[in-house]
Amino acid sequence: MTMKAVVVKEVCDGSVEVIQKDIPKVGAGEALVKVEYCGVCHTDLHVANGDFGKLPGRILGHEGIGIVTEVAPDVTSLRKGDRVSIAWFFEGCGHCEYCTTGRETLCRSVKNAGYSVDGGMSEYCLVTADYAVKVPEGLDPAQASSITCAGVTTYKAIKEAGAAPGQWVAIYGAGGLGNLAVQYAKKVFNAHVVAIDINNDKLALAKEVGADLVINGREVDDVAALIQEKTGGCHSAVVTAVSKVAFNQAVDSVRAGGTVVAVGLPSEMMDLSIVKTVLDGIRVVGSLVGTRKDLEEAFQFGAEGLVVPVVQKRPVEDAPAVFEEMHAGTIQGRMVLDFTGETTCSCCHH
Ligand code: NAD
Ligand code: ZN
Ligand code: ZN
Repeated sequence: MTMKAVVVKEVCDGSVEVIQKDIPKVGAGEALVKVEYCGVCHTDLHVANGDFGKLPGRILGHEGIGIVTEVAPDVTSLRKGDRVSIAWFFEGCGHCEYCTTGRETLCRSVKNAGYSVDGGMSEYCLVTADYAVKVPEGLDPAQASSITCAGVTTYKAIKEAGAAPGQWVAIYGAGGLGNLAVQYAKKVFNAHVVAIDINNDKLALAKEVGADLVINGREVDDVAALIQEKTGGCHSAVVTAVSKVAFNQAVDSVRAGGTVVAVGLPSEMMDLSIVKTVLDGIRVVGSLVGTRKDLEEAFQFGAEGLVVPVVQKRPVEDAPAVFEEMHAGTIQGRMVLDFTGETTCSCCHH
């Protein structure tokens, strides 16, 4: 039996192709998931482009949601019929210092879906049963897919920022991650939010979902100075933009004692003034997706309707086009590949 799968092309230039592959067989500790939806994250584009090493043929995807159709005999954590996630944090070793201290995404033997193991952009996908997080009742599966990476990553980053009610949080980049970052910051952490992007459409959407202030980095001379003037300096900044310019602006836009959380993955270096970092007591921290518990929490806020992912369903056959749109920066919210076969192409209805 074969299945449709979205894989990295041989050239590793950021483009993908939809091919037929064998449906994988369930091994010890595993479950087979019939995928319903899988969002396209900018990280998938980095992987397809070989930014973290060339991986031709790898099945992409780490915003997968689907229904368990089979479990190995030794599996006790999942049952047939459960709706579960296929996330970037696919599996940890379970016994290292990171796994045992609540920092499992930093496990040195980690497996990542759509990168070091085949991911969720296929009709069927294996998961390590103990690491697949159940989707709560009442959460739409296409919206859940977007929370599986974009949601949990930004929710966790805002936790790392130490954001408290009434504080100002700057969200750099208002794309797939940034849109959800605005919502978690505003609705879950009760913070004031300034969103910065270089595209007015994305800023309009950020405003719609709750940003108090929006700034176009291309239309303003000094983004950081404007933020300092309007907010007195943000208490924290979460940088999802794929550009070092934004990372540098973020450091200059926080107030003394502020925290800059690095989330975006441009293959560049950021500038960091040692004197400013010391004299202003600035903290700069990296944040990588979220733990299983973070994802459970991020899902729950979605199920309660506090956070509403902006998603558009696309047929699997559109995957190459979606990757081009991601590269061009024209996507609003998240594009979610539909593996149920219910979504047809808007232009030709294939
Ligand atoms: P996206 O393409 O949907 O959004 C990126 C946004 O950044 C776009 O809206 C773009 O207009 C904006 N942008 C570009 N240059 C900018 C600038 N100078 N100032 C402000 N905004 C700017 O991508 P995404 O899916 O949201 O992912 C964003 C980044 O986060 C990617 O690099 C991705 O790999 C990374 N990521 C990291 C983690 C993690 O765990 N740390 C998880 C998921 C994604
Ligand atoms: Zn992602
Ligand atoms: Zn470990």
